[in-house]
Amino acid sequence: MRPLIVIGNWKMNGNLASNEDWIKTVARGMESGMPSGRKFAVCPPFPYLTQCASLIKEHSLAFLSLGAQDASADIAGAYTGEVAASSLKEMGCSYVIVGHSERRQLHHEVDELVAAKALQVLDSGMTPIICVGETADERNSGRAVEVVRGQVAKQLTVLQDRLADCLIAYEPVWAIGTGKVATAQVAQDMHRAIRLQLAEFDEDVASHVGILYGGSVKPDNAVELFAMPDIDGGLVGGASLDPQDFLAICKA
Ligand code: PEP
Repeated sequence: MRPLIVIGNWKMNGNLASNEDWIKTVARGMESGMPSGRKFAVCPPFPYLTQCASLIKEHSLAFLSLGAQDASADIAGAYTGEVAASSLKEMGCSYVIVGHSERRQLHHEVDELVAAKALQVLDSGMTPIICVGETADERNSGRAVEVVRGQVAKQLTVLQDRLADCLIAYEPVWAIGTGKVATAQVAQDMHRAIRLQLAEFDEDVASHVGILYGGSVKPDNAVELFAMPDIDGGLVGGASLDPQDFLAICKA
């Protein structure tokens, strides 16, 4: 049985004061207990990882793990501005997002680089969250499944059965930050297609990999999305900035 996982991606938001408020509010909200069989994490910007790790410890927030929004594809060396996966592990991260569509679009990241990043994350003992998803044009021209299958195939080529230790986030680009959520059935159909593709490679990998949905997840649509058989939780951007909304989605 795969656990339901909710991961908040703050993107380039937050500051020392608002982060502290967020963790305190989430700590109070989680105090009364959380549904069993679920996992939760938050991915703040790099500079706030240490602050959030200490706050999580201070408030004994056993339910909440820490994640990062990216990692370098290299181990160490002359890569100005990059952050090594091993450093993220040292800072207390359990998860690292790789291949987010904003990285693919704004920083021209391609599938091979995303897979190399995922390998570094795995080698450092953390779980990569590998993002895939089609643009509006690709969906409107009937190529959504073909595009996503292509992205997943590249990950399989490099990661092989190590994909069993990763999470995949299906994030249709047209739904990210737009308020246009995929219907639960549209999301389920793509998650099913991904799972069948994984099963063509290895049944065991297919049954182990958590496939999260991302794209305008909110408290009022999370219940329906998470009820789908192949949707194992959500990667939540905008709504994760509000601690009450994040809590509501975690409990959905
Ligand atoms: C994201 O950035 O991963 C995301 C899903 O954003 P939003 O929830 O704001 O659409």
